[in-house]
Amino acid sequence: MTRVTDASELGARLGVIHARIAGAVERAGRAPDSVRLVAVSKNKPAADIRAAYAAGQRDFGENYVQELLEKTAALADLVEIRWHVIGRLQRNKARDVARIAALVHTVDRAELARELARRATAAGRRLEILVEVNVAGEATKGGCAPGELAGLLDELAGMPGIEARGLMTIAPDVDDPEAVRPVFAALRELAAKHRLRELSMGMSHDFEIAIEEGATLVRVGTAIFGARSAPGQ
Ligand SMILES: *Cc1c(COP(=O)(O)O)cnc(C)c1O
Repeated sequence: MTRVTDASELGARLGVIHARIAGAVERAGRAPDSVRLVAVSKNKPAADIRAAYAAGQRDFGENYVQELLEKTAALADLVEIRWHVIGRLQRNKARDVARIAALVHTVDRAELARELARRATAAGRRLEILVEVNVAGEATKGGCAPGELAGLLDELAGMPGIEARGLMTIAPDVDDPEAVRPVFAALRELAAKHRLRELSMGMSHDFEIAIEEGATLVRVGTAIFGARSAPGQ
């Protein structure tokens, strides 16, 4: 875990992000409340989440289930917090995820969905999920191929414990964010084709372009909490 960020500093950074979101929403002619900010807090201390919560932030994204469990325990008093699971998921983590997550962004295969559905049903919940699509076909990333999406959505429709609300993608990491605009547009078209409402796309360096292309959820880490020091993250 990296150092704790000062609470007023965090509040100021959140304010900047909200202003940039508002600018992109306006450029796109969209409704002001049509985009939700998910603050990605992986590798950051629980104290940073507490400070962001005090500044009004409610949606937080975590990648690792063990870290999520530690943070939910440390932050149990923050009753309005909503946890978004945004990392690659193993089936053996489904039980904890089905209990805790407000939204799982990274469902990309039927076996994982089936296990989440089973665990959610056992917990008396209907779990909202997004299907992750590997739009750019990058070998290093999760997500189903665009061509597999229709079949996967058909399977999900038969699982009572979960509800597919939309799609998610991680765009290629390139210097010029304009270069990934077609990736975001492709995800929007896939969602429209399947009448899905939520679009989780856009990170610190490209969230404004994602909003212009229809994002309803943006996942922003570094621009709020600062650089992560953990290797590979
Ligand atoms: C880490 C992460 C983010 C946040 O990335 P930043 O560049 O720090 O904003 C968003 N989405 C996913 C899936 C991530 O793993």
